[in-house]
Amino acid sequence: MDPSTKARYEVVVGLEVHAQLMTASKIYAPDATHFGETPNTHVSVISLAHPGTLPRLNKKVVEMAIKMGLACGSEISRKQIFDRKNYFYPDLPKGYQLTQDRTPICIGGSLKVDDGKGAKRSIPLNRVHIEEDAGKSVHTEGQSDTLVDLNRAGVALIEIVTEPALRSSVEAGSFLTEVRRLVRYLEICDGNMEEGSLRCDANVSVRLKGTEKLGKKVEVKNLNSIKNVQKAIDFEVERQINLLEKQGLIISETRLFSADTGKTYGMREKEEMNDYRYFPDPDLSPLHISEEWLDDIKATLPELPWQLLERLMKQYKLSAYDAGVLMEDRNLVHLFEQVCQHTDQYKAVSNWIMGPVKAQFNESGTVAISYKQLAGMINMISAGKLSFTTASQRLFPALSKNANAKPEILARELNLIQDNNDSLIADLVDAVIKDFPEKVEEYRSSKKAKGLISMFMGELMKRSKGKADPKKANELLLNRLG
Ligand code: ADP
Ligand code: MG
Repeated sequence: MDPSTKARYEVVVGLEVHAQLMTASKIYAPDATHFGETPNTHVSVISLAHPGTLPRLNKKVVEMAIKMGLACGSEISRKQIFDRKNYFYPDLPKGYQLTQDRTPICIGGSLKVDDGKGAKRSIPLNRVHIEEDAGKSVHTEGQSDTLVDLNRAGVALIEIVTEPALRSSVEAGSFLTEVRRLVRYLEICDGNMEEGSLRCDANVSVRLKGTEKLGKKVEVKNLNSIKNVQKAIDFEVERQINLLEKQGLIISETRLFSADTGKTYGMREKEEMNDYRYFPDPDLSPLHISEEWLDDIKATLPELPWQLLERLMKQYKLSAYDAGVLMEDRNLVHLFEQVCQHTDQYKAVSNWIMGPVKAQFNESGTVAISYKQLAGMINMISAGKLSFTTASQRLFPALSKNANAKPEILARELNLIQDNNDSLIADLVDAVIKDFPEKVEEYRSSKKAKGLISMFMGELMKRSKGKADPKKANELLLNRLG
């Protein structure tokens, strides 16, 4: 599309994010909630909606939803009713979904996201409400039958609804990343998009820049990865601008995204959509949230991602970048803080964790080196007794095989202690300079050949078997080369 045409429009996105809560049992029934079990094995008479059965609200669901609201600065509604949203679907045995239409548990609030241009923007939330998941219809290729698995029917969800405040697919991606991180920190959802624990509907519209009125929106349903959300939005934006340019009209409709083609396809027009006939569910009594209960839940809130980020920067003097990379994984943060109890080389600890330690973890699934060993090794490097290369290539693997070994002692046994002996290094410098006269000539005669220093250094370190202190060697070399 012509960039100047595109530039005349503004993108408007509102997201509806469903997060499956990590409760042991379903929202209104005692059935287990594990993902990937044999179909239809977690289906009590309540999940099957047998006549005469009644729902009973799982207290944990309420607590988890409130945690989310508190973290986002939402107002927690103190009296709620549950509503029936009626529609007919094979994977919905009751014929209605229990949800919160008019009294969502959390009202308003916001989340800060990266706008993709280096700044943070606060995205206002419309609401967070509690509802139940439906079962799953399984369509097998080449077969005309539809199979129904009701294990998921009645699993607890929260739905996080933003205001139409996101202004690009990049911001939408940042928002989802932020939500995923937050629900993981709060330990209320595993955030796994492939397994459908976190799903998203994207509402997309465009309007001419400077216009107040929102454009007609299209809702793209059931996106199961951040990439697909962004692709679907990008596709919709172009499609809608094209339509407006050609015929000046967009139809409000629900569309589906195909990851294969990268396109969205019409599913049903909003006009023909079900009238859900919401009404208060008579089987569940209204829910009251007392001051005490709310205080108890507040007291269980963990350190939130943005609070941790700030603390890492303040307490350990990490850069925003380093702290940001580290905090992506709370296990890494834990490891980092443990190691930092035994050394004050915080930046080095962060580098080690994001580098060799993480690589080891990705390869073997565990971190074998102990906090103290890692700290001891880092202290040796900062004292000039060990080069980083020798440490990462030799001592780190050796320590990983022997949890009881002391870094200093093992390094000595392996003959890895760096030589600080000036005269030895000086001898090596002389030898290297003597053996490469043309290179020395070249280095001295041209400013462009200053890169040769790394070749001299490489040669010197090789001859010292990696044991010369690189800083000292470099100093001496530069000195002698003039
Ligand atoms: P509906 O009545 O169609 O369900 P809602 O007003 O409940 O619409 O909003 C549902 C979602 O759509 C919210 O996330 C909201 O921010 C978003 N939304 C509403 N209007 C627009 C629009 N014109 N463009 C983009 N997103 C929108
Ligand atoms: Mg709505």
